[in-house]
Amino acid sequence: MNDAPREDAPTPTRCTRCGRTFGCGARMDACWCQQLPPLDPARFVGDAGCYCPDCLALLVAGQHTVR
Ligand SMILES: [Zn+2]
Repeated sequence: MNDAPREDAPTPTRCTRCGRTFGCGARMDACWCQQLPPLDPARFVGDAGCYCPDCLALLVAGQHTVR
């Protein structure tokens, strides 16, 4: 692996669903979440914040079974 530092480090963010802390790359050129299909905005309105990779994957895969 290469330990070369990145231009920007992901922003520590807390998942609004499970509370896990993960790195959000929204302030970088591209966040990993942008590689996933967009969630239905009607289901995630307001100050939803960000989801961790695990939760976002689950939400994207089962947008009709979100609990
Ligand atoms: Zn989560």
